[in-house]
Amino acid sequence: MIPVADAIQIVLQQTSLLGTESVPIGEVLGRILGEDVIADSDLPPFDRAQMDGYAVRAADVETTPARLRIVGESAAGAGWHHEMKAGEAVRIMTGAPVPQGADSVQQVELTRELNGAGTVEILESVQIGRSIVRRAAEIKAGETVLRAGEEINAQAIATLASFGYAQVQVARRPRVAVMATGSELVDVGRTPARDQIRDSNNYTIEAYAKLAGATVERLPLAGDDTELLKKQMAAALERCDMLITSGGVSMGVYDFTKTAFRELGAEIFFERVALRPGKPTVFGKIGDKLIFGLPGNPVSVAVTFNLFARTALCAMQAATEKTLPEVTTVLAQNVKASPDRDSYLPAVLRTEQDGRMLAEPLKWGGSSDFVSFARANGLIIVPAGGAFAAGDRAKCLRLPA
Ligand code: AMP
Ligand code: MG
Repeated sequence: MIPVADAIQIVLQQTSLLGTESVPIGEVLGRILGEDVIADSDLPPFDRAQMDGYAVRAADVETTPARLRIVGESAAGAGWHHEMKAGEAVRIMTGAPVPQGADSVQQVELTRELNGAGTVEILESVQIGRSIVRRAAEIKAGETVLRAGEEINAQAIATLASFGYAQVQVARRPRVAVMATGSELVDVGRTPARDQIRDSNNYTIEAYAKLAGATVERLPLAGDDTELLKKQMAAALERCDMLITSGGVSMGVYDFTKTAFRELGAEIFFERVALRPGKPTVFGKIGDKLIFGLPGNPVSVAVTFNLFARTALCAMQAATEKTLPEVTTVLAQNVKASPDRDSYLPAVLRTEQDGRMLAEPLKWGGSSDFVSFARANGLIIVPAGGAFAAGDRAKCLRLPA
């Protein structure tokens, strides 16, 4: 048995980068940036009005009301490109360039246009620079505004668009093949006969792998037939970057996953982790393809996928954040680890009125209790042999959402 942290290190060491591809900006949400994003212009690109109103010289409106001659109009997209002189004002809109000669903008609410006279009365004085965002005040051309390895969220899209990234270099998506083992399994569309259950692991792994940026191919159910397992695995390895199986890695008479891996020439890096749930997790390589043999129990699948396979998927994409985000929480109940394994206990994490993050361990019936797990949004980490009391602080991982 190896510690969880060691297993994660081994996964990282064995994972290589997939490289990048150029993708239209409309399709990059959730992808990992494959290049630094550089500003190709100042931001704002010109002195920009922040209010609708009048561009003026502050000195002209020190005593109010002050009457100024309206000499032009500067609209967003159609500026007034002349020199504004003393005693003059230019009607201006939010987002429009401030004319030369003006040093401030008075908002329209504090002005009154005199009918037909081409004159405006400024009702309150302004300070120099008022309601103007100076050219390059936000960003200077040439600055790095986003970095390779960041996940592109919706908040980052405006930055990509504003600096002309119609096409964006992003990490290629890892191709994952998932394969459930177990002669008791039938697909979700079927009614289980005697002694059968529906496969859920393939769909769970597919969901989490997609959240980690992968494309996923679900392989047909192959039972516990070693030859059939091998045949499907070998075919899938031709097409994918990573193979993830579930089940068949324990000590049962029909646990053939490792046999199939070995007969396909796998190099196995670990096959037992000091982890609960998820002890019999297998990690190896066949050729240069990564293989994960996850345990069969649905909660073990969720935990081991997110600790190990997800880390590999993030690393393949050169993501800056490769492991689940960690938060410190206050425990709502006593919790206990198994004596020789770190426990990752499914929990509901929620923020209290006072700002503390509370971790409520789920009442659960063990690693097969996927119905309780459906409400989990985090995992409480309890080190091997340890225990925490209600009110203690404990580290938790946030599950992907
Ligand atoms: P195993 O490690 O193959 O003995 O599986 C452990 C437990 O997980 C058994 O109760 C299996 O029936 C269950 N199990 C295995 N694979 C799946 C699956 N794909 N979907 C749901 N349950 C599964
Ligand atoms: Mg099985």
